[in-house]
Amino acid sequence: MLAPGARGGYDRAAPGFQILLDMDVTGKVLSKKARRYQADALTQCALECFGTLKGRKMRAPLNQLILSTFYHEVSVRRATRALRQLKRTFADWNEVRVSHPAEVASALSSAPWALHSSERIVWLLRELVRFHHRSDLDFLHDLTAQQARSCLECLPNVPRPLADEVLLLSLQEAVLPVSATTARTCYRMGILDNPRPTVANQKQLQELFDEQYYVPVHLFFCDRVEKCCLPEAPLCEECGLAPKCPSARQNNQP
Ligand code: SF4
Repeated sequence: MLAPGARGGYDRAAPGFQILLDMDVTGKVLSKKARRYQADALTQCALECFGTLKGRKMRAPLNQLILSTFYHEVSVRRATRALRQLKRTFADWNEVRVSHPAEVASALSSAPWALHSSERIVWLLRELVRFHHRSDLDFLHDLTAQQARSCLECLPNVPRPLADEVLLLSLQEAVLPVSATTARTCYRMGILDNPRPTVANQKQLQELFDEQYYVPVHLFFCDRVEKCCLPEAPLCEECGLAPKCPSARQNNQP
C-alpha cells in the first residue's frame, strides 16, 4: 500500500486535498503536484480493490490475450472463470480454433457477451495460425517490447491498449495500457489535458503513476471504471472515484 503521506495523502485535512478542491474541471490549469495527487488517489482505490498483486501467477501470452478479451466484456472475476471454463472444456486452443463460435460460447454462458467474445477468440486463433503457423504466442518472450506489441497488433481486434495489456500482465513490461476509457477517466479526474488515448498521454500517465502499481491500476480501470465512466452520462453515483473526481461534482450539480 502507499505509505501515508507518500506522494500525496487522501485525508480531507491534508494539504493536498485543497489542491483537489481548487482544481479546474477542464484540467487546463492543474499543477504537476495536483495531477500526481489525483493519480495517487486513483492508485489508492485500485490497491483497496486488488492489493499490490505482487505474487500473482504469470499467464502465457495467449492465455492472457484471451483473458483480456473477456475483461472488456465482464468483470475480472467472471473473465477469469470464463478462461478456466474454456480450458476445462477444450483440449487446447487448437480445438477452440476449429470449433464453431456458438459451441465455444455454450461452454461459457447463454448471455450475449459469451457469443461475442467467442467469435473474437475463434477469429483470433485462426489468424494466429494463418500468420504464425502456431497456436501459442510464447515466441513473444524472445522479442523486444516494441516487436511484441507490433506482432500482437497484427492480430484481428488487437488494438494497442490490448497489446499493451499482454505486455504488462504476461510479459512483465513496465507499460501502462491506455484505452479510451483510461484516457477519458484521467481527463475527467483532472490528470490529463485531453481525453484521447494517444502515445503522448500514455507517456504522461506512465510518469504520473507509480510503476510498481501499474497492474492493480490497470485492472481497476478494466473492472470498475470501464463499467461506470461512460462516454455519455457517466454513472458517478456508482463510481468509487466520485469523492476525488471534480467532474463528478460537476455532473451532480442541478
Ligand atoms: S466520478 Fe463520474 S466522471 Fe468521475 S471517474 Fe467516476 S464515473 Fe467518471
